[in-house]
Amino acid sequence: MTVRASIAAAVTSRTQACALDIVVPCYNEEAVIEQTHRRLRGAMRAIPDARVTIIYVDDGSSDATLPRLRALAAGDADTRVVALSRNFGHQYALTAGLDAAGGDAVVVIDADLQDPPEVIPQMVARWRDGADVVYGLRTSRQGETAFKRGTAHLFYRLLQRFGNAKIPADVGDFRLLDRRVVETLNDMPERDRFLRGLVVWAGFRQEAVTYERQPRVAGETKFPFRRMFSFALDGIFSFSTVPLRLVSYLGLVASLLALVGIIYAFYIKLFTVGVVPGWAAQWIGTLFLGGVQLLSLGVIGEYVGRIYGEVKRRPLYVVKERVGFDSGA
Ligand code: UDP
Ligand code: MG
Repeated sequence: MTVRASIAAAVTSRTQACALDIVVPCYNEEAVIEQTHRRLRGAMRAIPDARVTIIYVDDGSSDATLPRLRALAAGDADTRVVALSRNFGHQYALTAGLDAAGGDAVVVIDADLQDPPEVIPQMVARWRDGADVVYGLRTSRQGETAFKRGTAHLFYRLLQRFGNAKIPADVGDFRLLDRRVVETLNDMPERDRFLRGLVVWAGFRQEAVTYERQPRVAGETKFPFRRMFSFALDGIFSFSTVPLRLVSYLGLVASLLALVGIIYAFYIKLFTVGVVPGWAAQWIGTLFLGGVQLLSLGVIGEYVGRIYGEVKRRPLYVVKERVGFDSGA
């Protein structure tokens, strides 16, 4: 192909032959990973004119996930593996995958087949029609406990109410990103990687395709309640300063109540004799103020902690091994 022809091909890459990367974060997914690979490859046959590369990110698995991924890469020229030096967490594994991806479009999908790979051809079709971000909108969540569904619902509503970026409800990380969006994300240095929020922040033309979230095929969730809760806090604190505002309101209410207390104290002092009334009110006031202050310190501490994390400027993840990339390490 001549230089001019290759430039033209790059410009029209959405409609003609294009390079599509699929990023799959994996943490202890030995039970499902081979099945995932087969399903992915099978589903990709429905996409015309695309060279599909699958990039698995091993997020410090302690089971046989990494050797299995190496074997998959050995048997498939268009499969690559990025292995992180330890478990960094889902959002960092995704970040590592996006950094490693070079395609015209990148799809991010979980390893456990909860997001059906068969939806990807629809995403690609929407992208070819001009969308820059195509996210998967869950119409139902099968095989998840009522508790998980309930807390997820609450979380998305809170986020929509408090967040600055309008993060759509019921959207996970299953999505297609155009090259330009991937570049934008890669340019974001922040540690607080609540990717679905960063994607909304990035802008561009964003569209949704709906799908039914399936039960996990094998293995178990890596997000017990504790981790889910901390993820939810990340989502809220890194996209909203509303909690800080609430602290100010709380302070205002406490001050008003204190004023009432002061007037009452003067009244007792000036117009009554002998008795020592008001000890209950004092106790209540002390406890109330103590609670308000600790809560406020906690909220401020959340932000200070985040600032501390950011200023250290550590890398977001550490790669220990790359398999199937041309340049080797
Ligand atoms: N994952 C990861 N690092 C982690 C936890 C999870 O890379 O520390 C991966 C995991 O292998 C899966 C995806 O992130 O591909 C989503 O995790 P999981 O299915 O456990 O979350 P859930 O669907 O239960 O929210
Ligand atoms: Mg899952």
